[in-house]
Amino acid sequence: MFSSNSRSIVRYSILRRLKSTLVVAEHNNEALNPVTQNAITAAKKIGGDVTVLVAGTKCGPASEAVAKVQGVSKVLVAESDAFNGFTAESLTPLVLAVQNQFKFTHILAGATAFGKNVLPRVAAKLDVSPISEIIDVKSEDTFVRTIYAGNAVLTFKSKDPVKVITIRGTNFEAAPTNGSAKIEQAPAGDYKTDLTQFVSQELTKSDRPELASAKVIISGGRGLKSGENFKLLYDLADKFGAAVGASRAAVDAGYVPNDLQIGQTGKIVAPELYIAVGISGAIQHLAGMKDSKTIVAINKDPEAPIFQIADYGLVADLFKAIPELTEKL
Ligand SMILES: Cc1cc2nc3c(=O)[nH]c(=O)nc-3n(C[C@H](O)[C@H](O)[C@H](O)COP(=O)(O)OP(=O)(O)OC[C@H]3O[C@@H](n4cnc5c(N)ncnc54)[C@H](O)[C@@H]3O)c2cc1C
Repeated sequence: MFSSNSRSIVRYSILRRLKSTLVVAEHNNEALNPVTQNAITAAKKIGGDVTVLVAGTKCGPASEAVAKVQGVSKVLVAESDAFNGFTAESLTPLVLAVQNQFKFTHILAGATAFGKNVLPRVAAKLDVSPISEIIDVKSEDTFVRTIYAGNAVLTFKSKDPVKVITIRGTNFEAAPTNGSAKIEQAPAGDYKTDLTQFVSQELTKSDRPELASAKVIISGGRGLKSGENFKLLYDLADKFGAAVGASRAAVDAGYVPNDLQIGQTGKIVAPELYIAVGISGAIQHLAGMKDSKTIVAINKDPEAPIFQIADYGLVADLFKAIPELTEKL
């Protein structure tokens, strides 16, 4: 016989046991995008079993990489030409088929172009609200995200039966790779779609580290005055093995391509060291880099707002300071 108190404890522990998360892996068939490991950490924080879905064309190596991530209990693999190009139109029915079979309580992916494309469609089909770009997990139904370009932090509770969530990678450590999960086939089905057809993609090739995973980032703004002058930053970056980023003003002026843009409408980064050169520190830029561990600002205007969040500031002409710094390193 259970007392009502012990009955509710049993019910609570059954609910806890039933909690389970599906992480939709982002990868290029060969290797994982690091954000997948961040999403697995967020899934572990929610609690319950963590299953990872790897869908691709010849994605054996990516599935094996996921199986090694600590905290993953099962990897579901779906290989088909339909997933060529990882289009949301072909992946959404797959995620729904997986959800239909396993009834996860949470579905997660990184808040990248991939995750932001696939998960809102999944949420719409499940008739729940997509929960975008969380920065923390308080409990299985309570999450934290930023609003107003990162100027306010919102803690909110979701009452939806299935929580469909994208996570901000920089706010969750990458889960370590000392696990050994089992690999199984995802539900079979015809996931080909007439809605879209993948034609081709051109990826930027660079010997420099990715902005998302770089430990050091040197960013340039309108103060650089031209694309040619970004060479000053590339020379300094070579000394650090750093990635180079930019403000939107520098991108809009055509100094550098837009995949270097950091900020509210660019990439969100949180490296060990962020050096802002000739950047004023508009809130939209800060939204993308203010979680960096150490921020250094070089600007000739002592009133520039970037100095308010910088750990170290140098009031100087960048055209003098950067070559001197590069030479001394
Ligand atoms: C909806 C919206 C979204 C946006 N999203 C983004 C975003 O994602 N990322 C982003 O960056 N911005 C974004 N912006 C734009 C943002 O508001 C600013 O306009 C932009 O960040 C300014 O870039 P900047 O600091 O390079 O240029 P400026 O504000 O013009 O600053 C240039 C700085 O360089 C300094 N400088 C000039 N010459 C030198 C020199 N010789 N030596 C040293 N310092 C020098 C100046 O003192 C100045 O502080 C967005 C705006 C909107 C409205």
